Amino acid sequence: MIRFFLFSLLILALNSTALGAKISYSLKMPRPQNHYFQVEMQVEQVKQKTATVKLPVWAPGSYLVREFSRHLNQVKAYSLQGALLPITKKTKNAWEIDLKGQTAFIVKYEVYAFELSVRTSFLDETHGFVSGPSMFMYLDGHKETGGELLVQPHPSFKRISTGLTQKSDVKQGNNQTFTFDNYDQLVDCPIEIGNQYEFDFEAAGVKHTVAMYGEGNFDPERLKEDMAKIVEEETKVVGVNPNKRYVFIVHNVVGGDGGLEHCNSTVLSVDRWTYDGSNYINFLNLVAHEYFHLWNVKRIRPIELGPFNYDQEVYTNYLWVMEGFTSYYDELILRRCGFYSQEEMAKKIQIAVNYVESSVGARVQPVAHASFDAWIKAYRPNENSSNTTMTYYSRGMIIASILDVMIIKQSNGKECLDHLMQDLYQTYYIGKNRGFTDAEFKACLTKHTGQDMAEFFLKYIDGTEVISYSMYFLPLGVDVSDVGGVKPVFGANVTEEGGKVIIKSIRANSSAEDAGLSVNDEIIACMNYRVDKSMLDALMNGAAVGDEFELTISRDKLMRKVIVKITGQKRSTFIFTNRHTDASLPLYNYWLR
Ligand SMILES: [Zn+2]
Repeated sequence: MIRFFLFSLLILALNSTALGAKISYSLKMPRPQNHYFQVEMQVEQVKQKTATVKLPVWAPGSYLVREFSRHLNQVKAYSLQGALLPITKKTKNAWEIDLKGQTAFIVKYEVYAFELSVRTSFLDETHGFVSGPSMFMYLDGHKETGGELLVQPHPSFKRISTGLTQKSDVKQGNNQTFTFDNYDQLVDCPIEIGNQYEFDFEAAGVKHTVAMYGEGNFDPERLKEDMAKIVEEETKVVGVNPNKRYVFIVHNVVGGDGGLEHCNSTVLSVDRWTYDGSNYINFLNLVAHEYFHLWNVKRIRPIELGPFNYDQEVYTNYLWVMEGFTSYYDELILRRCGFYSQEEMAKKIQIAVNYVESSVGARVQPVAHASFDAWIKAYRPNENSSNTTMTYYSRGMIIASILDVMIIKQSNGKECLDHLMQDLYQTYYIGKNRGFTDAEFKACLTKHTGQDMAEFFLKYIDGTEVISYSMYFLPLGVDVSDVGGVKPVFGANVTEEGGKVIIKSIRANSSAEDAGLSVNDEIIACMNYRVDKSMLDALMNGAAVGDEFELTISRDKLMRKVIVKITGQKRSTFIFTNRHTDASLPLYNYWLR
């Protein structure tokens, strides 16, 4: 009886393997100088008449439809014996293959990769960088299927750095085979291929590899020490570090465009000279930011953010938590590591408050809407964005600090925002293996702040009211006062392009708008004196309410004169002053420990 039962189980197991599709990829780069990757996707054990393969239109963590299939060419399908199979393009990112009775097929295509950023792929003679969503198709309906990826580097590339798991038994020359549990995991592991410099460090029980592409003034020994401190402190926030291995891929380039988070890796794009002086702290900030995301957004997340729909925008109201809380912790962690003093940390919050409150958009766009519309606004800014949008990074960071002090006050210094993060991680990621719903997040917040948060959401998350800063910070001994007032505002922001002074943005309801100045106008003269940018800025910065200026401008190559009458606008300037009592000081010290 037992033997029969075991035999049945075995049959069942064999059948279920036989039922699922088997998927493997290979990636080649035979001529890196032409910037083309060659991809092959082999699918076996499929039962349907036709199969649809798709390429994502966006990359998780970067909320813009990028239409990666723009860069695909020569998409062809074959049987395993090499016979061509009919393939039809069905939508901008989907192809249907007529299997002609086959149970297996191969799709081959090439990907033009010449955009070096943390969210796109790149290839030249110096290295290859693969951002999965722009490179690998998936079999529609089978994103849950795991498989293998064979990476065949160009012979001049000796190293592969990725968070993917290496299959131990296969390594021929520089070729390496990796395994993945499902499509989400495959494309969540960017791959750096080249001759990057690698070093390792151990922190929080996790082996960390740093893969440095490009020249830079970095000191590996100093980085090992400082990055390990950040890892240790961030692990304490949530209490668990879920990875065994973590990879930092760092692109040292001119400029640099930030970072992108993944479950067990990140890509950082930084200026190659960032590792010295005051710029070094910016690098540590970026490390702290992207590393914190391994919890916040990759695991602690709103239910919309994973598993992903790669076909279209995925809407969430919660980027102020995902990006705002992460922006708060990327500063707070540097304080906890000792890179900042308490005063410097408080100053960071003060600067963010003034940045947010001086922005016209802060009174126009609630952070929940900023999050929802990131796809069409934050990631697609225009000349009027500062009048209509509010960044969920900065306002989210401020709200994180307010919630932190609320929890500290409520628990009398026994708990802080860390405990909310721990609760979300344990309850939803570990306990339910999913993201939280809107109602669940609000309930968790109420539990930790001890307050019904409906009004808070109405005013500050779904609304645009100025936060009552003093009310929230005073119990921790920080008095916040607004010392601003009515100030003269010209309101035209100009740049100098080829010797011409050009208006780039106009502040809503400002003197410049009243005068009829417009974006793209060239300002030639003020009171008939020819001006450059520095002269114009000096004149307008020194102007008083009521002053009048005649400007000569060119619009569409037609000259005109306008009168600018400088008007006043109420501008807030928030100052944080410590006024400690015996009751507040321990709370303050716990907050900025
Ligand atoms: Zn972020």
